[in-house]
Amino acid sequence: MKLEGKVAIVTGSSRGIGYEIAKLYLKEGAKVVVCGSSDVTAQKAVTNLQKELNINDEAILGTGIDLKDNASIKMVITKTIERFGKIDVLVNNAGITSSESILESTDESFQNMFEINFFSCVRLIREVIPYMKKSGGSIINTSSMVGIYASPYQAAYSSSKFAVNGLTKACAKELGQYNIRVNAVAPGVVGTDMVTKNVTEEMKQLLVNSTPLRRMANPSDLAGIYLYLASDESSFTTGAIIQVDGGLVM
Ligand code: NAD
Repeated sequence: MKLEGKVAIVTGSSRGIGYEIAKLYLKEGAKVVVCGSSDVTAQKAVTNLQKELNINDEAILGTGIDLKDNASIKMVITKTIERFGKIDVLVNNAGITSSESILESTDESFQNMFEINFFSCVRLIREVIPYMKKSGGSIINTSSMVGIYASPYQAAYSSSKFAVNGLTKACAKELGQYNIRVNAVAPGVVGTDMVTKNVTEEMKQLLVNSTPLRRMANPSDLAGIYLYLASDESSFTTGAIIQVDGGLVM
């Protein structure tokens, strides 16, 4: 098992990509903190994971987290240490999207996007560093293909993901001396709530037709790269923004 003995916090793991990351990490022997936007959604995910994997609750902790609130973030770190004693892996995966013209955007719409997609990563990274400094660690941020080539009518979302890439590289440079690796994954189009609720059928078809592999990703298509980045197999990989997009952006 590739993550035996490791403790991982995965934000946004109540559904979508994060849920599949949590599932694979558990299968590979990690202890996982499953974070959702409320205790209820996190617990529901824990119950589903236990059923799917036929495991008890020893390896899982479910918790709500308010990513805009430092106190809530600190509470999740405290719960993790109380329960599992250390933190080896942080996956900053929770995120939101929106579509609006830059002309119609407001300071508030940009601020909300950056609070969830960018500042939550900053806040969590700050909190885990003292624990990871002891014996190294792996931080994995979820970026996006639009953090590489940008997307019209998505200025807030695109720029929040460009910022995540910058944060990833700057932190990789600063934290490498402690054997803390910092990488990002840039997914293409993934069939989750984020896409079903925000992307029209016409746009989905256009994106699929432009993707060399001619389909959207399933959330499980993404999990493997997060496993690689969390495991010792990626021991010399840091500062990388890894595209998992079926060849859409190249
Ligand atoms: P999703 O909507 O299915 O899941 C998002 C997760 O983030 C949920 O668990 C939700 O509870 C959590 N979350 C959102 N706002 C939160 C908040 N305020 N507080 C706490 N948790 C919150 O989306 P997904 O597709 O699984 O997205 C996961 C990540 O992948 C996001 O960062 C997204 O930007 C990125 N991404 C997705 C796609 C795609 O096509 N689906 C493409 C590129 C990047």
